[in-house]
Amino acid sequence: MRVFLLLFTGFAALLSVASGCPPPFNNFDFLGNSTEDTAAIIDAAFRAGELDKYLEPTMDSQAGWHDAVSKRGSITKPWPKSPSNGKPAPIVELPFCLRDPYAEVHAKYVLETALQVWRVNGLGEPGPHSGHRLQWTFADPGTYCRHPDGNWNKAVHGHTIEVLINPAISGGAASLGFTPPAWDSRPGRHQLALGEDVWKLPLFEALPVVAHEIGHLFGLTHEHQRPDRDHYVKFMCHNLVGYEAVKREVENNPKRNGDTIEKICEDCSVAWLYDSP
Ligand SMILES: [Zn+2]
Repeated sequence: MRVFLLLFTGFAALLSVASGCPPPFNNFDFLGNSTEDTAAIIDAAFRAGELDKYLEPTMDSQAGWHDAVSKRGSITKPWPKSPSNGKPAPIVELPFCLRDPYAEVHAKYVLETALQVWRVNGLGEPGPHSGHRLQWTFADPGTYCRHPDGNWNKAVHGHTIEVLINPAISGGAASLGFTPPAWDSRPGRHQLALGEDVWKLPLFEALPVVAHEIGHLFGLTHEHQRPDRDHYVKFMCHNLVGYEAVKREVENNPKRNGDTIEKICEDCSVAWLYDSP
């Protein structure tokens, strides 16, 4: 696990273009699309009274998102063990599928190479010698996550990680760990989404971005989101690019009574409402 975390830190340091990963509340419904940006989508959900159900405060809720820093316990669920099929120990399978032929052309190679980066840089093969059970698999060639009409391909298990190119985002975004069906059973809830800018990068620049996102799929969060981060990191919110504009916005045009720049700095669920950096 130590190697795991060091690797992830390294990938984070190399990260140059990725943004917004994982998606808000670990739900791709809140990620910007071709017609609306992320802040507008969250604002609409808030105004419709639908946001609170994603912000349940306890770990045993049916909601799929928790604050990584201030809430106790893990915010992620591990991927389930697969049946052992007679092998000595069960593996934990991360199944991947490509959304469509476009993703196959632009995301498949960089994904496979980034998975190899994890494999050869310390993760190794699953087993007692490496201390992990992670194994990734791919849908059969020519089998895509979705049909051309956008509907999920029922030949693919609904919890399979959907790999796609999302022209509305820059960098990458990935779901965090495993979302249990009791929280959300929709197919496509596990995703690895890459912006058009990623596949246009040289491979050596795209690889850290995709490898970083794969860490989220495994269930890893960013170092600055660790519950003990305040022992090691001093966050100076006022140094963020865009701080003054967001401060003016919340002072002059608050979306909710009681919203302040301090709350925006401390609580990402408030920050998202203001599209704060
Ligand atoms: Zn990330």
